[in-house]
Amino acid sequence: MPRKIAAGNWKMNGLQSTLAELQTLEAKHGDADIAILICPPFTLISACEDTPFDIGGQDCHTNEAGAHTGDISAEMLADVGASYVLVGHSERRTDHGETDAQVAAKSQAAYDAGLIAVICIGETLNEREDGTTLDVIDAQLAGSVPDTADALNTVIAYEPVWAIGTGKVPTTDQIAEVHAHMRARLQDRFADGDEFSLLYGGSVKGSNAANIFAVPHVDGALVGGASLTAADFSPIIAAL
Ligand code: PEP
Repeated sequence: MPRKIAAGNWKMNGLQSTLAELQTLEAKHGDADIAILICPPFTLISACEDTPFDIGGQDCHTNEAGAHTGDISAEMLADVGASYVLVGHSERRTDHGETDAQVAAKSQAAYDAGLIAVICIGETLNEREDGTTLDVIDAQLAGSVPDTADALNTVIAYEPVWAIGTGKVPTTDQIAEVHAHMRARLQDRFADGDEFSLLYGGSVKGSNAANIFAVPHVDGALVGGASLTAADFSPIIAAL
């Protein structure tokens, strides 16, 4: 069975005062039997070390170390207590021009440092409207997921770009189609393809989480805005 994961991506949000949200979350979900993953900004990762939650970075460099001002390596993330890292989030692909090949290299860097890579893929609105969603998913899975991936070192997050931070959510049929397709592609390529956790991301909220989690092959969610407060994130965790 794939592991169930409720993941929060804080993006460029969160100060030390925000950590109080994690205490509230711990009181409610500290002994949950699913994985709760918090991806705070780099500045807060070590401060999360004492929480019972899994902690992840939001990006890593492809190299282990070197002359890359402002960048963070996977090894550095592991060093301060992270066990996961998001790679290929659409905001990285758009804002920083990250390609599938770079995302695959970042995933490999994550594996080399002992981190689990959460590889994000998803179509734009134009691609959805052109009917090429599954082609885009195929290309991103082929290009962003290294051959060395397995169900222990990799989680795939399907995040339609047009659903991120917009309040727009695909229908459950649309989510089901993509998740079944991803599962089949992973089964074709990897011996343990049926064990990879597949997350849905894009405007998940307490009010829609249960419907989304009922979709076959949805093993959890990657949540942006609604992960910033315990009040918003807690109902999503409870629905999983
Ligand atoms: C995300 O940032 O990965 C995301 C899904 O954001 P939101 O939940 O705000 O749409």
